[in-house]
Amino acid sequence: MKKLCIFLALILLLSGCQQEIPAAPTTQATVPVSTEPTACIDHADSDDNGSCDTCQISLLVTFDFYCVNDLHGKVADADTHPGVDELTTFLEKARQRNENTVVLSAGDMWQGSAESNMTRGALTTEWMNEAGFAAMTLGNHEYDWGEAPIAANAEIAEFPFLAINIYDRQTNAQVEYCQSSVVLDQNGVQIGIIGAMGDCYNSIAVAQVKDVYFLTGDDLTALVKAEADALRAQGVDFIVYVIHDGHGDSGSASAAPVSDGQLRSYYDPSLSDGYVDLVFEGHTHQRYILEDAQGVYHLQNRGDNRGISQATVRINTVTGTWVCTDTKLLATGVYANMEDDPIVETLMEKYADQLSPANELLGYNSRLRYRNDLRQLTADMYYRLGMEVWGEEYDIVLGGGFMSVRSPNQLPAGDVTYAMLQSLLPFDNRLALCTVSGKTLAEKFFFTSNDNYFISFGEYGRKVRKDIDPDATYYIILDSYSYGYAPNNVTVVEEYEDGIYARDLIAQYIRDGGME
Ligand SMILES: [Zn+2]
Ligand SMILES: [Zn+2]
Repeated sequence: MKKLCIFLALILLLSGCQQEIPAAPTTQATVPVSTEPTACIDHADSDDNGSCDTCQISLLVTFDFYCVNDLHGKVADADTHPGVDELTTFLEKARQRNENTVVLSAGDMWQGSAESNMTRGALTTEWMNEAGFAAMTLGNHEYDWGEAPIAANAEIAEFPFLAINIYDRQTNAQVEYCQSSVVLDQNGVQIGIIGAMGDCYNSIAVAQVKDVYFLTGDDLTALVKAEADALRAQGVDFIVYVIHDGHGDSGSASAAPVSDGQLRSYYDPSLSDGYVDLVFEGHTHQRYILEDAQGVYHLQNRGDNRGISQATVRINTVTGTWVCTDTKLLATGVYANMEDDPIVETLMEKYADQLSPANELLGYNSRLRYRNDLRQLTADMYYRLGMEVWGEEYDIVLGGGFMSVRSPNQLPAGDVTYAMLQSLLPFDNRLALCTVSGKTLAEKFFFTSNDNYFISFGEYGRKVRKDIDPDATYYIILDSYSYGYAPNNVTVVEEYEDGIYARDLIAQYIRDGGME
């Protein structure tokens, strides 16, 4: 690594050396002859022991990396999680303790709360500026409103969006609103951050990603290796890989070994052969610290602002060698009781006009409603609206499809606001009248083994269910997630007006006293 005189002062401070740095002499002639041993200008560390061969000062710099994965817009305090106002304070304190603090995101930051969704992620992005994020890897849910809000938020963000593997279908070039990597040059150390979207194309409503594709598998490995080689060639000492994909199971809160085979479903273990040095993961909302066979750590925490990940790395500024001295999963308890940073309140005020519909008190809910109750109710509402709109003209068999209810996964008894439904049913999926073959109708809807499918039907549906003709064509009501999912093999006949989503149908149901 090139040594620069300017880093000398910083290294002296970091090494705990309290001596004052003398002012630069104006001319050579005025410099007094010193008998004190002075630090040399060009450090060397031939035995790589962390101190200069000549002047013995410490050449080690410690970096603290923090990663927030799958925040899902959980900006405001709730029963299930703290707000980011406390997290902001925590990160601020971390930075005061160690100026070499790097805050990263592993994606899925925006989708999942009224304040974040109603501003299409802008409010969350502004918070990330305030919290000093260095980079954010894009997650599948960043695409829930298509590409335009991502591009708009890229303008707001004072940090880059990363994804090495998202390509434009038309140009076959990487999409413009993100980049492959970023290099942080700090205290004589160059840190490279590479970001990648995981293999989660199918977790996005098709219409929102029709113009892009994600390279995965061996293609992704080749991209990351080439990028890592390029970063190393320009002098990068340490490479953090932040991927929006992860292990399927939670593990212990301390590092546990993981075999190559267990990683392979989302991570090519050959990347750990000197290409990437530390991996932060996301998407699966599992909590783990895994140490792979090559000694590279993989960290993820639960998401929804229920904890973040931390890794501490000590780097030799001269030789570039490093050691990961600590890895931690920080539970919310670490920051939940800290002082509120005013940023959240400031942003809520700034976006008050956009957020005002969230405060609407819809009505009263007489009992706790679990996730599956809400999923069935959504299917009922789809069927009901479908019958109202198209029932006179078409023989409609059923309404429903793949139903997703998000954190906090249930609706407590008591007053219900629109904001609560926004968290539970955040997706902007349009309703449509579709046709389907009898064979698919039976396999995918009436007799599916996929327990995320919920359907609702009436008299006519009951008759069809008993006696489906596999070759006949039937009319059903689905939302855009389900009709866009290719294996469902349906054809859209007519879409219902844009801007009316599952939460709006449930909201009306509650306004009408349906949950009293
Ligand atoms: Zn997520
Ligand atoms: Zn995700």
